[in-house]
Amino acid sequence: MSRRVPAALPAHAESSIAFVTPRPGGYAGARGKFDSFASARGTLNSKKETPMGKREDYIGWDEYFMGVAQLSGFRSKDPNTQVGCCIVSQDNKILSMGYNGLPKGCSDEDFPWNREGDVLDETKYAYVTHAELNSILNYRGGSLEGARLYVSLFPCNECAKAIIQAGIKKVVFDSDKYEGTPENRAAKRMFDAAGVEYIPYSRTGRTVKIMI
Ligand SMILES: [Zn+2]
Repeated sequence: MSRRVPAALPAHAESSIAFVTPRPGGYAGARGKFDSFASARGTLNSKKETPMGKREDYIGWDEYFMGVAQLSGFRSKDPNTQVGCCIVSQDNKILSMGYNGLPKGCSDEDFPWNREGDVLDETKYAYVTHAELNSILNYRGGSLEGARLYVSLFPCNECAKAIIQAGIKKVVFDSDKYEGTPENRAAKRMFDAAGVEYIPYSRTGRTVKIMI
């Protein structure tokens, strides 16, 4: 089995873990104060407020959902590729999340994570479930019809099939590093045919940090 899958860590996954501060002024934790929400353009917990007192520099929906997707990717055990995904309802409720990993019951210690070598004994491809498929399968609430999916890497053709069949209508992706590969082109061809919109995520350039 030699199906091509993402081979390297998307650039965004190397950045800081994203976190949403619940209060504009930061808050004191048991081990210190979470007040270091620095961004390239300022701080996310600055005192900017509207006349009615509402905080102004909160993160937007797309930042929120892509941040959740990226945070999910940090759960991955894959040494080369960490992909995270977040599925959202039409009224902006998070329905499911996932990352690339092994099926339940398949130990991370017993199965291989390499990219090269014997197909069954050394490489991961036969075993790993991608973030998008995991997110779809993780959902226990019923239908995903009309939902949208945020993912840190453009879906492969196999995940595209699952996305289409689940009724998801919009894909927001960050990296498209495999653009032009057969799997990538097949995914886009199916999305186009099925009427699934795919939109590149527009990074805002803001960085948020969490101490965990
Ligand atoms: Zn996939």
